[in-house]
Amino acid sequence: MGSGTFQATIGFSANHFQPPRASCFLMKFAEKYFFRHYALDTALKASLSEEAGLGVHGNVTIISKENTGQSVQRVYVWSHISSRPWGNDVSQQCPHCKRLRPSSKPRVAKKRKVVKGSTVTVHLIKHMCSFCSYGREFIKHEGLIRDGAMGERGRGDWYFTCRVLSRDKS
Ligand SMILES: [Zn+2]
Repeated sequence: MGSGTFQATIGFSANHFQPPRASCFLMKFAEKYFFRHYALDTALKASLSEEAGLGVHGNVTIISKENTGQSVQRVYVWSHISSRPWGNDVSQQCPHCKRLRPSSKPRVAKKRKVVKGSTVTVHLIKHMCSFCSYGREFIKHEGLIRDGAMGERGRGDWYFTCRVLSRDKS
């Protein structure tokens, strides 16, 4: 998008992507960006904040060219403590006893861990099977950012990672 050249590209990372899941988001985004002239980042975050259902389906990736000439990749991840902890797909079946929907109330915990010689705090979400006590831990990716621009709705939150891909050589 942009005048003449592509300024940004949007992709969806669901394993079995269903285009209708993205149509509402794309319509809202297009209206905000093209007709209301919101900045790209603002239009994107405002549209995502209204579309938790898209986040349940999978992540949204946008690669855009910044004013600095750098190409930056942002991956938007919707996290919910039960259904999508830190953006991870969760099987509805216990991997051990194979019962359906067996998890007891998930727990959030912090753990101290040594990474490259220094101690860091990692944020965990723990699921435990209420039948066989099989436990699963989901560790928050250290690059996940929540800046509050996409709202906190109690049903889950949008996070994102940000990575510089290249500098423009032109
Ligand atoms: Zn189990």
